[in-house]
Amino acid sequence: MSNQIFAYITHHGGKADDSALELISAAKKIDPEAKVTAVVCGSGGDLDGLCQEVAASYPVVWKIDNPDVAYPNAENIRGLLVNVLPKEGIVLLPHDTFGMDLGPGLSIKLDSAYVTDVVAIEGADGDTLKTVRQEFGGQVHTHVNCDIASGAVITVRPGTFQPDESKSASGQIEDKTSEAGSVEAKRKFLEVLEAEIGEVDITKEDVLVSVGRGIGDEENLEVVQELAEAMGGVVSCSRPIVDAKWMEKARQVGTSGKTVKPKVYLAMGISGSFQHMGGVKGNPFIVAVNNNPKAPIFQVADVGVVEDMVEFAEELTEKINELK
Ligand code: FAD
Repeated sequence: MSNQIFAYITHHGGKADDSALELISAAKKIDPEAKVTAVVCGSGGDLDGLCQEVAASYPVVWKIDNPDVAYPNAENIRGLLVNVLPKEGIVLLPHDTFGMDLGPGLSIKLDSAYVTDVVAIEGADGDTLKTVRQEFGGQVHTHVNCDIASGAVITVRPGTFQPDESKSASGQIEDKTSEAGSVEAKRKFLEVLEAEIGEVDITKEDVLVSVGRGIGDEENLEVVQELAEAMGGVVSCSRPIVDAKWMEKARQVGTSGKTVKPKVYLAMGISGSFQHMGGVKGNPFIVAVNNNPKAPIFQVADVGVVEDMVEFAEELTEKINELK
């Protein structure tokens, strides 16, 4: 294959998101010898520092400095990217809310193939790229062969590729601002609304006891709370628990909740959806308790316990307290 590979770098507060290093690994699965180009859009202030940070990992960095893309406005970014990306390029994006917003329209404008939420790449064979997606909440793997002769836009599920932390590149930064041209912004950025921190800040905790729908009843939260106290941690949860108003939003882990980096993550009655696990970073020791031995969470857990979560929580609390 002769396609050039691009990775779109999302960033916050002048720092590249975790996906920046994961996309390098995804690109290497397409072509281990690829000279991958990172594309960084933003404006002023932190942009040069950010490009330098990215250049430690990518051999080429394209900088697009434009006030209309100071915030991650996918419509505006798409308008600039189509002016600089080659039609036969392979563009990797994180499969997050931003990537899902940017990807479809970009593939249409570039007239290229589009594959979403990719969890594995099995390499390219001529003009065919072999990718793997998950269906039915992770219970089924689907092999998707993608024709890359006229390029492709691929969204990659966060957390599924090992980040390449080698920082072995000393990339060349190329300013593509004028080539990217300008856009007429139809969507306007208004303000950033920071999420509430709540009673506890789960993003700072080393031990999280996380509960999901398998808890069954709000009353069972007490048992889980006791276990978290015995373990010296705090209780976090999946989205259905917040939707049921059993816990505050600030305790929700996941793509639409908080990103956590504990040392130990005890997931109880949680199936392991990618939206939930997408919020669990930093490679913690994961213990999953679930009464269904086929629950997808067991694919990522270091230790799996097939058991009723409430009974298990009571027994474990008792054992820990005995040992203390
Ligand atoms: P379920 O998927 O219903 O799983 C419950 C599990 O409990 C099952 O595996 C079951 O076997 C097990 N179980 C049942 N009874 C017991 C028992 N007695 N003992 C032990 N195990 C038991 N979800 C999030 O968590 N965070 C997010 O940020 C998030 N963002 C989302 C954003 C979008 C745009 C969308 C569409 C969805 C999002 N979701 C999010 C929802 C997500 O797709 C899943 O629906 C959700 O994570 C499922 O939560 P769960 O694992 O608790 O419930």
